[in-house]
Parts: sequence; C-alpha cells; structure tokens
Amino acid sequence: MKEFKILGVPVHPYTMSEVVEELNKRIVAQEQTFVVTANAEIIMACQEDDSYNKIVSNAEIILPDGAGAVWAGRHLGNKVPERVAGFDLYLELMQLCAEKGYKAFFFGSAPGVADAAKAVCEERYPGVQIVGVRNGYFKDNEVPEIIEEINKSGAQLLFAALGAPKQEKWLAANRDKLNSIVLMGIGGSFDVLAGKMQRAPKWMQDASLEWLFRLYKQPSRFMRMMALPKFVIEVFIHGSKHV
Ligand code: UDP
Repeated sequence: MKEFKILGVPVHPYTMSEVVEELNKRIVAQEQTFVVTANAEIIMACQEDDSYNKIVSNAEIILPDGAGAVWAGRHLGNKVPERVAGFDLYLELMQLCAEKGYKAFFFGSAPGVADAAKAVCEERYPGVQIVGVRNGYFKDNEVPEIIEEINKSGAQLLFAALGAPKQEKWLAANRDKLNSIVLMGIGGSFDVLAGKMQRAPKWMQDASLEWLFRLYKQPSRFMRMMALPKFVIEVFIHGSKHV
C-alpha cells in the first residue's frame, strides 16, 4: 500500500473494503498488525509528543479518519478514496468475525459499557464470538493480569477503547506480550454502541460535520477540538512535513 504524509505522520489511503480484506489476510497469516485511525487530533498530538509520533508512525496500518485527515491528504495532492472512521471499521470487523469465526476481546470504557457493547454486537452479528470484556480503568500493576486475560481468551482481534493517545500507547507498549493479531484503538466506540454517546446523523457525517456534532454533545471537548483549526493552519504551512 502506498503511503503519504500529513505533518510527518504516514497515512495509508485504503478504502474500507480494502482494509477489511487486508486485515483478513493478516489474520489468516497470523501477522500481528497494529491499526491506528489517524484523525486530525491524533496527527496534532504527534507534533507535540515524539514518543506518540513514533508509536503512530510505526503502526502497520494508519488510516485517514475524520474529515480533517481526508481534507489534508487531498489538499497535499494525494488520492484519498474515502474516510475510514474507526467506529465504522470496528463494525465491519465485527461482521468479519461473525462470518469467519474469529474471536474478539473488548477492552476499555467505564465498567459495564463494553459488556453492553458486546450484547449489542451479539444481537447485530449473530454467531459473533466476543470472548472477553474488561473495563478500561486499571492500575499499572494490573497490566500483566489484563494481558494474561486477553491471551487466555484466544482473541485474534483486540479492540482497546481507552481514548487517544492512551490506547495507542498501551497497545504499542504491550504488543510483544499480546497474542492477538489485530490490535486497534477505538476511542468512544463502546460508548456509542452501548447508547451512552450518540454518533452524528449520516447527513452530518457526509457533510464533514461530525466534529461539530461532537462539540455540541460534549462542549467539554472544546479545548481538545481547538486542535482542528490548528491542524488546518499547520497543514497549510508545513504540508507533509512534521511541524
Ligand atoms: N477510557 C478508559 N480508560 C481511561 C480513560 C478513558 O477506558 O483511562 C475510555 C472512556 O471511558 C471512553 C473512551 O476511553 O469510553 C474515550 O473515548 P473518547 O471519545 O474520548 O475517545 P477519543 O476521542 O479520545 O479517541
């Protein structure tokens, strides 16, 4: 897969169906793969945090998530067929799990939330095997036990919903000890499935306004979302180069 850079962060312009096919191949080949859905906030965080930049840049698959990343890729003259949102890819992978009999582990979010997301998936994707669930609030000394729980479950796909950058940092730090093949951070996806958080209506997603919906629902994100206008300015100034 070709790659291009946005502010020094590599991005792989897969379509949704291509990335699902690629991940299926990697599961069959048992090739451990760390997937990052790089939105504008993540790319901006990489500008200020070198260790996070390395973690994201070393992921095997880095997808253009969010209107900002897609805009930047195209603005810099690259072909970006579509936005591959983490939430959408997570659901596509649930479908793949149901079809192929792959096992998944849900790690993250507040107590009870991943369990509720599991129940929703089991209803939506008959036959899907979600072989373990663990909330995302833990102390450092509990990490070995969490890794053991994930490995014992036999899950080939591990979804970590700890928010960015925590989920990417956790997955990168522990990937060598984890037996799961696909490792992916999915932010607030369990909250959305569990009905704790709403996703923007389709028309807003299509109009590249999902960020506005999130701001309306969670005004406390305002400071974090200031990364978006900053991102646009930095892309105009620095383009494909790290700030
Ligand atoms: N979370 C967690 N452990 C933590 C901090 C956060 O499990 O130590 C969860 C939180 O409950 C929520 C998700 O991580 O379910 C963060 O969602 P958010 O929408 O903020 O994700 P982001 O936009 O940062 O990817």
